[in-house]
Amino acid sequence: MRKKLVAGNWKMHGNLAENNKLLDAVVAGVSGLRDASVAVCVPYPYIPSVQVKLSDTNVSWGGQNVSQYDKGAYTGEVSTTMLKDFCCTYVIVGHSERRTIFNENNKIVAEKYVAAQNAGLIPILCVGETLEQREAGTTEQIIEEQINAVVSLAGVDSLSKAVVAYEPIWAIGTGKTASPQQAQEVHAFIRKGIAAQNASVAENLTIQYGGSVKANNAAELFAMPDIDGGLIGGASLISGDFITICHALQN
Ligand code: PEP
Repeated sequence: MRKKLVAGNWKMHGNLAENNKLLDAVVAGVSGLRDASVAVCVPYPYIPSVQVKLSDTNVSWGGQNVSQYDKGAYTGEVSTTMLKDFCCTYVIVGHSERRTIFNENNKIVAEKYVAAQNAGLIPILCVGETLEQREAGTTEQIIEEQINAVVSLAGVDSLSKAVVAYEPIWAIGTGKTASPQQAQEVHAFIRKGIAAQNASVAENLTIQYGGSVKANNAAELFAMPDIDGGLIGGASLISGDFITICHALQN
């Protein structure tokens, strides 16, 4: 059975006091969860304190971005080994906000994915189409290009040590969620494409849905056969909502 994962993406939110309060509640709220994983991807400066808070709990932690370079004169960047120093399990690569605001293209995202895996981090590879692309009927082509960039560089087998997050850009932070059927269609498309190259990798790949997942819609999304959890932005900052979403994995 493939692993299910709910990961919170805090984006550029939080402070020490709020984080501690949020994590105390989340840790208590998900302590009884079995067969499902929970993680939070937090801003860099908070990773050390989050590590202290979450060690010996069933909540993992990770970064929201990472450099594709190992080390060097890259002012402002953070390397994979730095994330590993603080025992991060995951790192998000290719989030649409990185792609659109910070001009990360498929090549850069693939390099980050490889760097993450080389350091022993599990990349959460985000893919997804804009509203214009969906309306133009090019969703599958866009997703295929985004996945292929990674497969060409790292090989299809690398997906056995990765998570894919399907995040339609029109649904991120907009309150517009893809319907369970719309999301399932794309998840099945992703799995089928990978299965054509390696059936067992495809079968075992965790594919999260992200895009305005809330406490009141998580269960119906997670009930779809190819949706293996979620990448959660806004609702991951509200402890009660995030806990409800994590529990929806088990329904
Ligand atoms: C995200 O940041 O990956 C995300 C899905 O955000 P939201 O849940 O707020 O749409």
